[in-house]
Amino acid sequence: MIPAIATVCLSGTLREKLEAIAAAGFTELEIFENDLIAFPGSPAEVRRICGDLGLRIITVQPFRDFEGMPDARRAKTFDRAERKLDLMGELGCDLLFVCSSVAPDALPGMDRLAADFRELGERAAKRGMRVGFEALAWGRHVGDYRDAWEIVRRADHPSVGLILDSFHVLARDLDLATIRNVPKDRLFFVQIADAPKLQMDPLSWSRHWRCMPGQGDLDLASFMDALAVTGYDGPVSLEIFNDRFRAGSARAVAVDGRRSLFTLIDDAGKRAGRKLGPVPDMPPRATVKGVEFIEFAVDENERPGFERLLRGLGFAATGRHRSKDVSLWEQGAIRIVVNSDREGFAHSYNLNHGTSVCAMALKVPDARATLERAKAILEQPYSGAIGPGELDIPAVRGLGGSLVYFVDDVSSLGRWSELDFLPTGEKAEGIGLTAVDHVSQSMQYEEMLTWLLFYTSLIEARKSPTQAVIDPGGVVQSQVIESGVAGDAPGAGLRLVLNGSQSHRTLAARFVTDFFGSGVQHIALDATDIFAAVEKMTARGVEILDIPDNYYDDLEARFDLPADLTARMRRFNVLYDRDERGPFYQAYTTTLEGGFFFEIVQRDGYAGYGGPNAGIRLAAQARLARPTGMPSR
Ligand code: MG
Ligand code: MG
Repeated sequence: MIPAIATVCLSGTLREKLEAIAAAGFTELEIFENDLIAFPGSPAEVRRICGDLGLRIITVQPFRDFEGMPDARRAKTFDRAERKLDLMGELGCDLLFVCSSVAPDALPGMDRLAADFRELGERAAKRGMRVGFEALAWGRHVGDYRDAWEIVRRADHPSVGLILDSFHVLARDLDLATIRNVPKDRLFFVQIADAPKLQMDPLSWSRHWRCMPGQGDLDLASFMDALAVTGYDGPVSLEIFNDRFRAGSARAVAVDGRRSLFTLIDDAGKRAGRKLGPVPDMPPRATVKGVEFIEFAVDENERPGFERLLRGLGFAATGRHRSKDVSLWEQGAIRIVVNSDREGFAHSYNLNHGTSVCAMALKVPDARATLERAKAILEQPYSGAIGPGELDIPAVRGLGGSLVYFVDDVSSLGRWSELDFLPTGEKAEGIGLTAVDHVSQSMQYEEMLTWLLFYTSLIEARKSPTQAVIDPGGVVQSQVIESGVAGDAPGAGLRLVLNGSQSHRTLAARFVTDFFGSGVQHIALDATDIFAAVEKMTARGVEILDIPDNYYDDLEARFDLPADLTARMRRFNVLYDRDERGPFYQAYTTTLEGGFFFEIVQRDGYAGYGGPNAGIRLAAQARLARPTGMPSR
């Protein structure tokens, strides 16, 4: 199976699309009819540009409303087809892409439709061309790929074959068994799209909500497994109609597309036990074992305040870097690296983003293997300057240009803190914070699918459906990604929350636009006893986000809670939720200059993220005119 893409996936002019497709490393593409019509040059010129870019045109699609025309219009329809075959000749492609008719006067009848295709196949064959037939989910008489296949079978012509589009098959939940039985030489072309599960008419769903494999909820794995059984080795081509992609950078979307196809084909190959296409060899996805450390880029002016906050949260400065102005802060299993070095990555990150999280290190079974996979799926590796005897920790570029490091126990990487840092002798007595619970990243709404794909193609991860959270300034879309999370065990695996806002007035959007770009907006830390932790933090001067009394009145009405518990929550500004597994408590520090804040959580079995409280938290944060968050002393 050869990775391919349709021009309709991308923004820009046809030339920009072709250049982006070639730059991403594709060698095959479909040209969407409208892109060609809008192009000011001749088809021969398009063919030449593609040739210069090393691109082969598979088809110019679609050819509409062909089959089942009543006699009065049939001859004209075949004339149209001949013009399309002429055009294909000029473009140098050989596949006529027919999608099932939506014409109101189209006539039904398998044999009639098969006869139309036999004749079209005969005409195409004279030119050395082929005809493929795709069932649109909303076709007039043919909306099921199994009917399309029956028509192709009855047409019984070597130049007539089936086209499959995963969206049209999976959106209708059609049985996949028939795919397995299609002979390889009758399957002419395969289009690939994923989509989120939505309740809407298939046409709008398809035209606006398609996305790349791994970004949606369709069962593409089963589709690919059925395809693998046929032995199909032709193009698998992304045909993604998505408003966000059409508004995004053509080059970035094209790279995402190739990444998603590499992952899709490789995954199917690993299940089938053989290589299914020209995709790079790559190790399997790693299951994350935990967040090893979080690194903040802090300039020297802001460092004293930031370090006061860390001390207020119970952290101690346990290590000083051997060669750089970098310190290590610890409490429980939480490690925070504060980087104020005037050289290197963190410094330039700080110049662009202010005090912020510049890197996150994930603990994986084999860091080198994870880096190998990242490279294979076109992520950007990063290597910084290191001093003598110091570790070169494998890393890739992540959200907003931040780094994602990989650390393991099979190499010396797991000993980074003792190899790169000198002990200060300080010990954290702590306030009962034990582990990193989750990391929340804010980004442009348009970027969300990119970063979802970044994580899910790299690591073994489960994603939740997207949820809408109401901010006083608009709606924030929120999506959870979890890897290696088992129950509520603190610090096990990775819990990530991606937030994207379409309104420019939400806190998530302001974090991105008013402050310093996409990045980590908050980190949640697990507490063994949240009330004790908040009491100690407050005593040390950390400001806690004030929650209105109405919230607690409502809580008493919603849940049957002991009065002393709600009284304590009210006193310490702790929010509450519960699921069938147990209760959940959460509290927030006020935000730092730049919009970052810490969250303290206690999950007693609970598996969620306090979704029902997110709106309350956002309203409370919006009320704070001047964010401070730092202890005053
Ligand atoms: Mg299609
Ligand atoms: Mg949170």
